[in-house]
Amino acid sequence: MPGAPLAPRPRRWQPNPATGDWLSGKLGIGAGVKAPKFSYVRADSVEQVLELLAEHGEDARILAGGQSLMPTLNMRLSQPRLLIDINRLRELSGIERRGEHVRIGALTRHADVAGSATVARHLPLIAEAMPHVAHVAVRNRGTFGGSIALADPAAEMPACALSLGATLVLRNTAGRREVAATDYFQGLYQTARRPDELLVEALIPVQQPGCVSVFGELAQRHGDFAIAGVAFHLKVDGRAVTDARLVYFGSEDRPTLAQRAGAAIAGCSLDDANAVAAAESALEQDLSPMDSPHASSRMRLHLQRVLTRRALATAAQRARAA
Ligand code: FAD
Repeated sequence: MPGAPLAPRPRRWQPNPATGDWLSGKLGIGAGVKAPKFSYVRADSVEQVLELLAEHGEDARILAGGQSLMPTLNMRLSQPRLLIDINRLRELSGIERRGEHVRIGALTRHADVAGSATVARHLPLIAEAMPHVAHVAVRNRGTFGGSIALADPAAEMPACALSLGATLVLRNTAGRREVAATDYFQGLYQTARRPDELLVEALIPVQQPGCVSVFGELAQRHGDFAIAGVAFHLKVDGRAVTDARLVYFGSEDRPTLAQRAGAAIAGCSLDDANAVAAAESALEQDLSPMDSPHASSRMRLHLQRVLTRRALATAAQRARAA
């Protein structure tokens, strides 16, 4: 009725009376939210996170940007008993050059990676890929480390990490270990990260003179997850390719380094139409695309070939201009 006072809306989430933290304690009790019950801790230090992970293991989940985790909770695809919020841990954020690497902290937001001059200068592949990651609102919250930890097969950052030969740094209460991206991505949402480990940062080699990189993807709408995508990093000496790291994503259960296609173009000019055709044709052995309602396996293989041709043509232009 016009002009009638609005009844006060009931508060769904109450601050924890002990800590004053919003969202603290159990959610879901009579609250009408869709997520299952879980406990919540907003961590004050990395050490606290590691102790909680050591204690709760598989029952705990790290909450970073929440852009993937919260939907899976709401759909009850994931039912952790404890969420460990790392958003206060500033030491997990930031981008800096360290010698021959760029260090990207796990909690660095996609938007900060997209706006970074260091990334634009030294990691042009990531700079080119970032506008394809979701939409602005998601990029403002979603994190680089969240994307690597989740390992969605259609995500852009895991493919770039693999193409650029990144090292992923993991910590638990026993110490720190480094895992090469080549060993890190192990299957559909499967990684080498153990349940008691926190991903703290990625160390990514800076692009050297003589190298070119190209990113491309095909999605049904801009910002959607890709149904086919490429992240190429090539070393070109004069006109000949001396090393080709051709990574494909969106079609396999994980980002995939195409060894045979890379070998087909190695030693050849990027303008060599026969070598490009050989690389395209070798994809049949390198890839075994998944079938889904969005695109059949055959269709994805076709799209990856189209992207290969386009990306190698772009690489040739960039190599000439360098
Ligand atoms: P969260 O959702 O907080 O966490 C994701 C998972 O990683 C959880 O299991 C969490 O426990 C774990 N985790 C997070 N950080 C760490 C850590 N430091 N150590 C250990 N485990 C950790 N992504 C794309 O790549 N491309 C897209 O096109 C795309 N489109 C999207 C569209 C929409 C509408 C939405 C909602 C999301 C989309 N995303 C896309 C996902 C987005 O990029 C997410 O930000 C990203 O996947 C996860 O980052 P996050 O910080 O939000 O992680």
